Amino acid sequence: MRVVATHDGGLCRVRLPGGLLTAAQAEAIAQAALAHASGTLELTNRANLQVRGIRAGSEAALSEALVAGGLGPSASASADLCTADELRNLMLAPLAGLDPAALLDTTTLAAPIVAMLQNEPRFAALSPKFALLIDGGEALAALDHPHDIWLAATAHEGGARFMFGLAGCPGDGAFGSIAAAQATPLIRALLHAFLDLAGPGQLRMREVVAAHGLQAVLKQALRHASIDIANETASGWQRSKVDTGLRLGAHRLNDRTGYVGCQPPLARLDAATLRGLAALAQTHGDGTLRITPWQGAILPHVANDAMPAVIAALHALGLITDAAHPLARTIACTGSTGCAKSRADTKADALLLAAHLPPKIHVHLSGCERSCAAAHRAPFTLLAVAPGAYDVYEDIDESVAQNSSENIEERDAAPFGRRVARHLTIEAAAQLLEHLSMQPHAQRAPEHS
Ligand code: SF4
Repeated sequence: MRVVATHDGGLCRVRLPGGLLTAAQAEAIAQAALAHASGTLELTNRANLQVRGIRAGSEAALSEALVAGGLGPSASASADLCTADELRNLMLAPLAGLDPAALLDTTTLAAPIVAMLQNEPRFAALSPKFALLIDGGEALAALDHPHDIWLAATAHEGGARFMFGLAGCPGDGAFGSIAAAQATPLIRALLHAFLDLAGPGQLRMREVVAAHGLQAVLKQALRHASIDIANETASGWQRSKVDTGLRLGAHRLNDRTGYVGCQPPLARLDAATLRGLAALAQTHGDGTLRITPWQGAILPHVANDAMPAVIAALHALGLITDAAHPLARTIACTGSTGCAKSRADTKADALLLAAHLPPKIHVHLSGCERSCAAAHRAPFTLLAVAPGAYDVYEDIDESVAQNSSENIEERDAAPFGRRVARHLTIEAAAQLLEHLSMQPHAQRAPEHS
């Protein structure tokens, strides 16, 4: 498994297909993190887990311990693939196979797709960042994270089908729909088409679509498989609404069981906390965890009458279970303690800000323009400009922004939105957010200083 150097030691991203982590795998990660690294772990916004602070010279031992624990490429993949590569991102909804409201159980698709990605030698050429989403229509889903290929279940009179699209998210505009049984052949054909068409340095589908056009990618894919695509079904299609608040707290799914969701503050936990989570999953659940794209975890199959005890145990571990908690509304990238690019200690500053965060405000602190912590545009972004100093951006509706400001630079301040203040301390940023939270957009001044 790949270990990359960072400011605070080696970093190993442990990819979890569908976000699924067994208690035994969690224990293997905790042991490896204590034996070969600092013990600090992070949950990512692609529902993966990463080990930080890997000691120099311990990279191979850590990788071996993780693979022995059933993580990373399977033993059936060739030795070359194991050493040269790692699993690709395959995201499912955190409640895949559990949510009675879902149109399809996507968990049954995950294993053949992961096997195909590992065992077909040509797919070793895909970038480790190449990402797939298979959405079963669950009530809880992350739909704002662009994927190279996405499939989303949709109701159809002849049975549920999959809408699909490239280089985007469900809701960006589907290309067409396919029968559910053709999901794996379609993905395989699209991966081959991508590799056929990708030029030097083109690692992601958006680059290939930009270079050749969507129709050319699809045409190429159909040379690899005969798939019946219904284009007309895509027109006007909209994915049903989701409630991301369902990621936290206790929720019944039937008369007997449900799930409990939690998240560590700012996506970080230590090995002991991961062990505690795994123990809870074994005692009160089915021995599994599901890592979520909101950098948290879900314990499935918890008995309804055990939920209060599980919530109390999660709080004792320092985990958050309430979507209204300020730290459930605050995300921050690694920051200067772990990333040389960061202009500020975003994690420490985020803790300061959270103590003063107005109700209902969601905020993202980023150490530089790369925006590693957020795949989407947050309602408010604090972009570090110097230690302890941030420019503040707001994801304001563009039509409102154009009415309230003629400043072209402000309107074009993507990817974070419109800049509303420069070079603020955390205390001043908290005051500004308080002020903005009480104003409708149209009444806001273009920029505060
Ligand atoms: S957003 Fe920038 S500073 Fe933060 S972790 Fe990513 S690269 Fe580093």
